[in-house]
Amino acid sequence: MRFLILSDIHANRHALEAVVADAGVRYDRIVCLGDIVGYGAEPNATSDWVRTNVPVVVRGNHDRACTGDAVIEEFSDNAYQAAQWTLPLLTEENCRWLTGLPRGPVPVEDFFLCHGSPADEDEYVTSTYEAAFQYRYLPAEVCFFGHTHLQGTFAMRPGKAWYLDPSSVLAVEPDTAYLINPGSVGQPRDHDPRAAYAVYDSDARIAEFRRVKYDIAGAQKAIREAGLPEYLASRLAQGR
Ligand code: ZN
Repeated sequence: MRFLILSDIHANRHALEAVVADAGVRYDRIVCLGDIVGYGAEPNATSDWVRTNVPVVVRGNHDRACTGDAVIEEFSDNAYQAAQWTLPLLTEENCRWLTGLPRGPVPVEDFFLCHGSPADEDEYVTSTYEAAFQYRYLPAEVCFFGHTHLQGTFAMRPGKAWYLDPSSVLAVEPDTAYLINPGSVGQPRDHDPRAAYAVYDSDARIAEFRRVKYDIAGAQKAIREAGLPEYLASRLAQGR
C-alpha cells in the first residue's frame, strides 16, 4: 500500500491543493499527522478536505488550540492570535471533528503516526540527540512525525542516532528504527518555501520526499485579507 503522508497543513488551502495535484496517482491511501488548522486563513477548507478524504488523522497542538484547549496559553503571540481568530470561524462540524481527533501515536498497518514525538505529542524532535531519547518510546520500527515543519529522517539503533537527508529516497533497513518527517504542507520552515510531503510504500518499505511549488501569493493574500498577523503571510515566501 502506498500512503500519502501529510502534516502541518495549517489552513493553507493553496498549498494543500498543489500537494494533492502533485501526488496524482502516486498513492492508495492518505494519512495526516495533525495541525490541519492554525496560522493560515482557510481553516474550514482544509478541515473539510481532510475530514472527507483522510481516514487516519492524529491531532496537533494547533488543532487543540483552535478548538478551545488550554494549550493555547503556551503559544507565541502570532500563533495565539491565529488560534483566537480560527475558533469562532470553524463550522460546528469541523470544530467537533477536530476536537475528537486522537492523540498519537496511532497505528497504521505496521507503522505509527504521531504529531510531536512518540513520547509526547507536543515535543519537538529536531536533533539526533532528541531522536536518540525517543528510541525506547518507539512503538514500531517506522514512525512518522510532524510538528517541527522540517522534512527529513532520524534513524536509530541502540545507543546511536543519525540524520538522513530528504533529498534521497529512504529505504528501511533491518534492525533500524526511523522517525520520519514528511515536512509541512502549509508552512515549511527549512528555508525552502515549497509545500512538503512524503509518500511511503509500506510493502517496499520506501519513503520518498517531495516538494511542490504552490500559489504562495494567494495564501498570503488570504492571510492579509483575514487581518491575521503580517508575519504569518511574509514567512511563507521565506519558508521559515
Ligand atoms: Zn504545526
